[in-house]
Amino acid sequence: MLAKTTLGNTGINVTKLGFGTLVMGSLQANLPPEEGAKVIRRALVQGISFLDTAHVYGSYEHIRQAKEGWKQELVIATKMPASDYDKAERHINHALEALDVESLDIMLMHAARAGEDVFQERAGAYQCLCDYKQKGLIKAIGVSTHHAGTVRVAGSRDDVDVIHPLINMAGTGILGGTVEDMASAIAAASLNGKGIYAMKALAGGSLLERMDEAFKFVMGLPGIDAVVVGMVSEAEVDMNCRIFRGEAVHDKEREVTVREKRLKIVEVYCKGCGRCVNACPNGALSMVEGKSSVDESKCLVCGYCTPACPEFAIRVM
Ligand code: SF4
Ligand code: SF4
Repeated sequence: MLAKTTLGNTGINVTKLGFGTLVMGSLQANLPPEEGAKVIRRALVQGISFLDTAHVYGSYEHIRQAKEGWKQELVIATKMPASDYDKAERHINHALEALDVESLDIMLMHAARAGEDVFQERAGAYQCLCDYKQKGLIKAIGVSTHHAGTVRVAGSRDDVDVIHPLINMAGTGILGGTVEDMASAIAAASLNGKGIYAMKALAGGSLLERMDEAFKFVMGLPGIDAVVVGMVSEAEVDMNCRIFRGEAVHDKEREVTVREKRLKIVEVYCKGCGRCVNACPNGALSMVEGKSSVDESKCLVCGYCTPACPEFAIRVM
């Protein structure tokens, strides 16, 4: 059995291991919906009852197909990039339709790299979330963020139910502070009743070789209720479920899962600074038309380049 928990004061029960659908969606691995649905369905059968998605991930259809005919408990968290009321309303209605649900369990403001002013900057969009919660079309609202300051602000607001922060033991991708700053903001928000589910516990894949330690670090932090992990194959689902059930995982199984991984430069995030090129000891990266590009014949998927990127544009998936 996978352990379950309640997200803060929301009354929403989820498995501590959640399934992140960013990596299978159109921004990254771009699995066809039916293929992605198979992987998600495997996770549901293995006992995962918590899925994370977002408008921009392009994975609503994967989820819709995966849950067809599924009668057991399932919580879906999604996010919207909207900056004003009208756009937020469109995103909410699109999510309801595309996911084929009568109400949304969790809808967050997709703030990623935005700073602590995001609640002012997107006040109209957040008001829309509050109104739809009031109407009963959303159960819990909040924010997803890479920024320690945003976690602190969100944690102190009465109208926030759930926070989805980035944290990992390497500190990769954390904005507005250190790992300790982020951990303390998370702890304070949790004490104030917010449900907290973490992202990027494996730092975009660069901590894959140390995954048990990396999961333990995040799940051991005060205030973390759950963590969502990106998965793109049934073997990966099985392995992660075993880890979270406290069962032994054979080295061979780990090796196969890690060997199947590829390095991906998320082009929309790459600003072309070139820092990753110098960080690669194998000469696998070069700049092509102003963006970093990987030569797969040279890449050992060691992940050394990931922390060098200030934009968190390099992922192992
Ligand atoms: S994963 Fe390792 S080998 Fe591949 S590009 Fe990055 S640093 Fe180079
Ligand atoms: S370090 Fe990141 S932003 Fe800079 S070139 Fe490499 S991938 Fe692009």
